[in-house]
Amino acid sequence: MRTAENAWPLEISMKVQQLIINGMTAEQISHEVPKSRSAILGWAWRKKITLPRVKKPFTENVQVKVAITQPVIIKNEPVSQQEPLKAFQTCQWLFGEARNRHFCTNKATHGSWCEGHHRQVYVVKG
Ligand SMILES: [Zn+2]
Repeated sequence: MRTAENAWPLEISMKVQQLIINGMTAEQISHEVPKSRSAILGWAWRKKITLPRVKKPFTENVQVKVAITQPVIIKNEPVSQQEPLKAFQTCQWLFGEARNRHFCTNKATHGSWCEGHHRQVYVVKG
């Protein structure tokens, strides 16, 4: 039976394990501990630890075709976290039923409603 694993001091094993958790590759770890890249790969293999893949720089010439679609954004008034809005300054749009009912938290900018809900209230569908 091979005892190569025992040749690794606990200190080194612990350090390598931590560096793997930190997301370092075998190549990078080999600069941190007195072990070669292949020794680290072998150790990880024996421990059944999956090493992170070698990170390729983003500058590498990779052709990625991405279908750019314009996302549909329903614009809501941002709610200020510093100064909470007083009652009736917020949109009167109700969500839910009975006890779970709650008002929309957006600022009422169009009468009793926020911009988005004002549109839903007044735009005649058809
Ligand atoms: Zn609203």
